[in-house]
Amino acid sequence: SKEIGRNSFQLYKASMNARSLERLSMLSRFQHALEHDEFELYFQPLQCLASRRISSVECLLRWNDPKLGMISPAQFIPLAEELGLIIKLDQWVINKACEKMALWRRQGSDLRRIAINVSAQHLCQGELATTVSNALNKHGVDGRFVELELTESSFISNLHEAKSELHKLKSLGVAIALDDFGTGYSALSYLTKLPIDTLKIDASFVAKIPDEYGNSEIVAAIIAMAKALNLHVVAEGVEKAEQRQFLQKLGCNTIQGYMYCKPLSCDDWLRFYHAEKVT
Ligand code: C2E
Ligand code: CA
Ligand code: CA
Ligand code: CA
Repeated sequence: SKEIGRNSFQLYKASMNARSLERLSMLSRFQHALEHDEFELYFQPLQCLASRRISSVECLLRWNDPKLGMISPAQFIPLAEELGLIIKLDQWVINKACEKMALWRRQGSDLRRIAINVSAQHLCQGELATTVSNALNKHGVDGRFVELELTESSFISNLHEAKSELHKLKSLGVAIALDDFGTGYSALSYLTKLPIDTLKIDASFVAKIPDEYGNSEIVAAIIAMAKALNLHVVAEGVEKAEQRQFLQKLGCNTIQGYMYCKPLSCDDWLRFYHAEKVT
């Protein structure tokens, strides 16, 4: 039994080594990617249902590794969190998004808002408001042009800290959206305790309307609650005309999804934006 113990320890050690090597190479890849512009922002417009116009655009991060090709954020965001690099990555995104918004506005765009995803860790550990304030100042962007998308997990570890950070952001004019609503811990008290402007209903609910039993009622209830609390409500992952119709009937303000537009490279997004304005 002593032998087995030693063997399994050796095995454990070997896998630890492989794992730390993998982490090390990932770490240097990541830093290399940050320094060599291998990260890129894609843009997905949100559509206002009442006016049928673009109400804002969400930045979605892409990593184009020369060897591995396009890597999905669903893969590298959790990794960046684990490696302690997520705040650096968030800062890159926030800066890039402000730079783009400043450029577009200078070029005459009347786009009202750019939405940026922020990791849960950033809010409580990383002085998010300082990062945002610096980026706004650096690029000369008004905070009212920016919305930050956070998930409920951002508030769990320290509600008090989160609240004070969110209020700092609000004083810069920045709007706050609660992303993936309905999937997390869904402590509804967050909605009244924190200065939240927008609810984004998670795509998993939208995917099941209008057919699946009970699901449409949940979506209807979320929209009714959001309206009662004076929150703006966005439905994510809208792929079908019948979903859009259903959401519009319930008073949902805004939709986002493949039905309206996929995430686009910067050039394609600008073409889309100008084409929408003409029609
Ligand atoms: P999310 O914020 O919930 O973003 C929505 C995801 O749904 C995006 O995936 C988008 O491409 C995808 N999507 C949009 N419309 C549709 C649709 O109609 N149907 C379906 N099936 N999917 C749709 P993506 O770009 O792979 O991003 C995945 C997640 O990675 C994001 O989920 C977000 O949590 C995270 N993420 C992306 N960019 C960033 C970033 O810059 N910073 C941070 N911290 N997280 C990011
Ligand atoms: Ca989002
Ligand atoms: Ca989401
Ligand atoms: Ca998500």
